[in-house]
Amino acid sequence: MDMIAIDLDGTLLNSGNEISENNIQAIRRAQSEGVEVVIATGRAAFDVRNLFSDLDLKTWVIAANGATIHRPDGTLFSSIPMEKEDVIEVLAWLEEKGFYYEAIDDEAILTPQNGRELMNIELDRIRSANPNTNLTRLEKAAEKQFSQSGFSHVDSYEEIVDRKRNVYNILTFSFEEEKLQKGWERFKDYPDLTLVSSANHNFEVEHRLASKGNAVKQLAQQLNLSIERTAVIGDSLNDLSMINMAGNSAAMGNAKTEVKEACQFLTKTNDEDGVAHAIDHFLAY
Ligand code: CA
Repeated sequence: MDMIAIDLDGTLLNSGNEISENNIQAIRRAQSEGVEVVIATGRAAFDVRNLFSDLDLKTWVIAANGATIHRPDGTLFSSIPMEKEDVIEVLAWLEEKGFYYEAIDDEAILTPQNGRELMNIELDRIRSANPNTNLTRLEKAAEKQFSQSGFSHVDSYEEIVDRKRNVYNILTFSFEEEKLQKGWERFKDYPDLTLVSSANHNFEVEHRLASKGNAVKQLAQQLNLSIERTAVIGDSLNDLSMINMAGNSAAMGNAKTEVKEACQFLTKTNDEDGVAHAIDHFLAY
């Protein structure tokens, strides 16, 4: 293998949002054999840096679903920000319809001041519609959303526009399926946008040329590595672009069915060191 690209949530991170010692050792093994290891995530680059801050591990980082690529030393390699008009149109609509959102720019995850409130309102609505529903999983999903680092709160999307910074990715989160579907339908045919889902209850919007797949391909070309001898590991629908691009792919045991069907190799779950298992498979290839 020339290169291995690894998704974070549901893949390298276990359900406690940690990177296991076995996974760290496997990444080091790959690097010591000359394989270029790349993290490929929907998260912001600064959030990834924070997750890795206590680990003596340096890799390339594809973040914001392919809209940014950072070198192992943390410097920006390339980026594809959204068009300003698209940022305004998407955020104005989401805000008007009462969606929770997160916009990633160079420095922060910008999110409404009342973000927690918006999610609690939705949870209350689900609870009153069906008092017997177990909401533990949903509450956990909300907590995971808030566990990212680098949040900055805004009273209105106009503050985000006024910052005059590049916006790379806008994530929308809702527990209400119909509401989420409406948002997807609203933007899915926009020629300038890419829409992907990285987990249940969300979808994300980027520039039409930004995807994990395009970023992996670009990186392989610029580093003179073979896309055929590139392997990718993932669990969600936003991984399909890189799964379809690379010569080799592994789906996590906990992956979405569509992802399992698209990959050649099925590894263990994210709570069973599935990444280490997949890396060992690819190194023996
Ligand atoms: Ca994932």
